[in-house]
Amino acid sequence: MAAQNPPLALEPLRRGTVEYEELRKRFFNARVPPTEPAEIVHPTTTADVAAAVKRAKSLGWKVGVRSGGHSFTCSSLIQNGMLIDASRLNRTIEYDPKTRILSFGPATLARDLAEWSDKLKRFFPFGHFPSVAVGGFALAGGQGWFMRGWGCTSDSWITKLEVVMADGQAINASKDENEDVFWAARGGGHGFFGVVTKIYGNTIPARTIFDMARVFDVSQPGSYEKVLGWALAANNRTPKYGVDTAVATFYADKEAADAGREARDKRLFMSMDSIVYADSMAEAETLLSEFRNLPEELQPLEMAHVGPKETTWDEIFHYQEKVNPSGNGERYQCDSILNDPEIPREKLMEAIKPALCSLPNFRSVGVVFIAEYYPDERDQALSLPQQYYISTMTCWTDPAEDGRMRKWMYDAYSRAESVACGQYIADFDATHRITKVMSDSALRKWLRIRAKWDPREIFPGYKSFASILQDDAKL
Ligand SMILES: Cc1cc2nc3c(=O)[nH]c(=O)nc-3n(C[C@H](O)[C@H](O)[C@H](O)COP(=O)(O)OP(=O)(O)OC[C@H]3O[C@@H](n4cnc5c(N)ncnc54)[C@H](O)[C@@H]3O)c2cc1C
Repeated sequence: MAAQNPPLALEPLRRGTVEYEELRKRFFNARVPPTEPAEIVHPTTTADVAAAVKRAKSLGWKVGVRSGGHSFTCSSLIQNGMLIDASRLNRTIEYDPKTRILSFGPATLARDLAEWSDKLKRFFPFGHFPSVAVGGFALAGGQGWFMRGWGCTSDSWITKLEVVMADGQAINASKDENEDVFWAARGGGHGFFGVVTKIYGNTIPARTIFDMARVFDVSQPGSYEKVLGWALAANNRTPKYGVDTAVATFYADKEAADAGREARDKRLFMSMDSIVYADSMAEAETLLSEFRNLPEELQPLEMAHVGPKETTWDEIFHYQEKVNPSGNGERYQCDSILNDPEIPREKLMEAIKPALCSLPNFRSVGVVFIAEYYPDERDQALSLPQQYYISTMTCWTDPAEDGRMRKWMYDAYSRAESVACGQYIADFDATHRITKVMSDSALRKWLRIRAKWDPREIFPGYKSFASILQDDAKL
């Protein structure tokens, strides 16, 4: 009996305790579904994870894994299954000065990697938001800093993963070992069929961060098209290495002190924020020259202009947390599309206009992140082109608003879908819209690899996005 239900070094948390409920709800989004795993485990070592997976397997339970808890849908919660909370797992960041390879546990946050970068003067592309953990981020592919030049973090940065597979064995996965698992992990997102316990990545010398922001009033008819059209055109003439630009829409009083009420100032603003990684201000100014030359016709629309100026990860992260606060009952939904790059710009801007310009309340934000990354599916499961990542994060606090907010999102993104090639897998929500998260050929290959490594479906997260393929086309 003991062999069938392996004991755990750690005491699992079970329903009915305060600790269980606190840990169950440890998500960025306060809109946590009532889904109750049978047990939550909190491993610190890879051996703990292996024991937990073996236990789940012997009990016939499904397993969900959480690192930073930034999945908007709380995808790691499985009714009557096991939740492996990786927040304490392998928590040291190690650096090998010979190989210049960095290794860390999956719950390492973007903030931790930024601190490490400042200290060691090396850089690995982490996420844009300080509390996003690298576990879920890397599996989604990772839209990290300066990806226009070097692609998603999963592309050339991650060199190896340590993974506990469905049979409870820990393996290494890289281009040389268990290459199929390495391929399927990068872009497999919440569908991945193992527990990532350690991540290894390349680093480069750190540089200095600069930023420049412009804010426009786009409330008047025609101004959204003028400003966004200019931003996208200016970006096309901007070098790809070391310059990231994000466009955001929000109501004028998004940051009003008496948050909680509905927007009074309904002017719609559009910000354009470029972050540059360069060696000097002169270099940053050259890289930003297209964004610095504002056409005359846009000048009357400009409300504010800052920089270029030197900045820090701390300052950038502080701003990000102001835009997307968490921890005070904020309920979120995020939907997004990756646009079909063949669609002309005017048609694209028209289709995404409701998602960006008709925001349902003053807490919500629309984003066009200029990704410009075209992955090669021979290298990894991540396979949809990422020219622009277009998303809206709606945010509210009153549960009575859930229905209205979800309807708004569904309507806006059903419209945007007409110009999409799919969705970044991190935003996939099976209860909302079923969209492509990989190319059909990548998904077929991915499903074959999954079936080989997890024949008993211990990790069921893939089922939601696999359903996009017709049954007869799956294999
Ligand atoms: C405010 C905000 C900002 C964001 N900014 C960015 C951004 O700049 N770039 C970007 O690419 N994404 C961004 N995201 C999306 C984010 O990267 C994904 O949601 C990612 O999955 C979060 O990882 P996590 O570990 O924090 O979340 P979790 O909820 O812990 O993980 C998400 C899913 O990944 C899987 N998973 C997590 N850890 C493991 C593991 N160790 N082993 C196996 N499976 C695991 C699980 O299926 C889990 O359900 C953002 C999200 C938020 C909320």
